[in-house]
Amino acid sequence: MNIKRLSPTYDRRSVLKALGLGTASGFLGVFGGIPSARAGGIEKPSNTGSLPSLTIRSVKAIGTAPQGANLVVVKVETSEPGLYGLGCATFTQRAEAVVAAINNYMPDFCVGKDVDNIEDMWQSFFVSSYWRNGPVLNNALSGLDQALWDIKGKRANMPVYQLLGGKSRFAVDCYAHADGKSPEEVAGNVQKYMDLGFQYVRIQQGGYGSLYLAQKPDFKDAGFGRPTDDFMDENAYVQAVPKMFKEVRIRCGETVELLHDTHERVQPMNMINMCKRLEEYHPYWIEDPVTPENMDWFKQLRASTTVPFAMGELFNNQNEFVSYMADHSFDYIRCHLSQIGGITPAMKVARLGEFFNVKSGWHGPGDVSPVGHAAQCHIDLAIWNFGVQESVEFSDKLIEVFPGTPVLKNGYFYVNEAPGLGVDIDEKMAAKYPINNKAGRWTIRKRDGTIIRP
Ligand code: MG
Repeated sequence: MNIKRLSPTYDRRSVLKALGLGTASGFLGVFGGIPSARAGGIEKPSNTGSLPSLTIRSVKAIGTAPQGANLVVVKVETSEPGLYGLGCATFTQRAEAVVAAINNYMPDFCVGKDVDNIEDMWQSFFVSSYWRNGPVLNNALSGLDQALWDIKGKRANMPVYQLLGGKSRFAVDCYAHADGKSPEEVAGNVQKYMDLGFQYVRIQQGGYGSLYLAQKPDFKDAGFGRPTDDFMDENAYVQAVPKMFKEVRIRCGETVELLHDTHERVQPMNMINMCKRLEEYHPYWIEDPVTPENMDWFKQLRASTTVPFAMGELFNNQNEFVSYMADHSFDYIRCHLSQIGGITPAMKVARLGEFFNVKSGWHGPGDVSPVGHAAQCHIDLAIWNFGVQESVEFSDKLIEVFPGTPVLKNGYFYVNEAPGLGVDIDEKMAAKYPINNKAGRWTIRKRDGTIIRP
């Protein structure tokens, strides 16, 4: 595991330089030393109007895949030379579509606008295409939104978490991923992560749907579908998951928090029966128990079991959380920040969750860029109702492309204290790892070839 910590990309001096303020005294003059100004007899805050007005000079997409997964980052340059922001717009399965959306539609929309008005920019881009709520454009918007928060942090000389209210905790508690071909192998990998300091571990046997448990895929013999299509035996899966939990509890004890992702692949009644069997192993959460098409089953699911649920990975719009939160349908916000539209809507969902005892659990696998991971960590640090953060091991190649990547240590993510999101990109290095269109072929079938909805 790489726990290398890199120097902050933006230190105080570079920000002063970027603001055109060569000395610390000049900086203090802007933020702390100006007496209250009076305009028309109304006292104004001391810093009102004191930041130089900046506009967006350019917007572009940067696609890169240093760790295999397609990543897309938005770079927003401002009218201040050298001052720019980065945001994660990753939709790994349709990365080239997001790149086209950013490069073809965002410059015309953004250039010349005030970099400070994030909410206005978010609202206006969200409806500027009239049709909305879909991935691709939401990913593009997320990249723009995060980049504007990055710029605002740099302008304020503060990490973004400070702009969100400051720290509620010293670091971001994470979960790791333990997999294996057998329950025993899964338990062994859980113990390895416990030894590294993780208190939370997600357990899967053979990825999603337990591919090792699947019976003979007759559709392949029949020449139906493609040879590379995956297959799943739902009955084998729902029987195997409780056995996996039992084995891990026996071997690893009761204190480690165990998570599991069903990836929306199980029929609702099977899910209810499986969750009831899991109660005695007290999972921390069961993730995405139903497909978006089966959300009406949540009431029965909730009434049938005490297992906590994380939900929302396939939600597109922040409004989708509202009624389910109000009904106490699930316990954790499982949301891809770089898909739902960025920090701005994620903060609204997170704050709403505080009132309904729903905590955060942002989606943070390898198909989120280090910029996106940082954005999630800044929110995690700031909100009260933080749950747990998905972690990923960053390769040396990835860290080389993204200096300032959050550091994973003893089961916690740490962001650096640089202003903004704290992550930069080496564009020359990024260009060495071009994105491709091969990641969109995720097809899962039943034995007879029927498509399983994730
Ligand atoms: Mg998931």
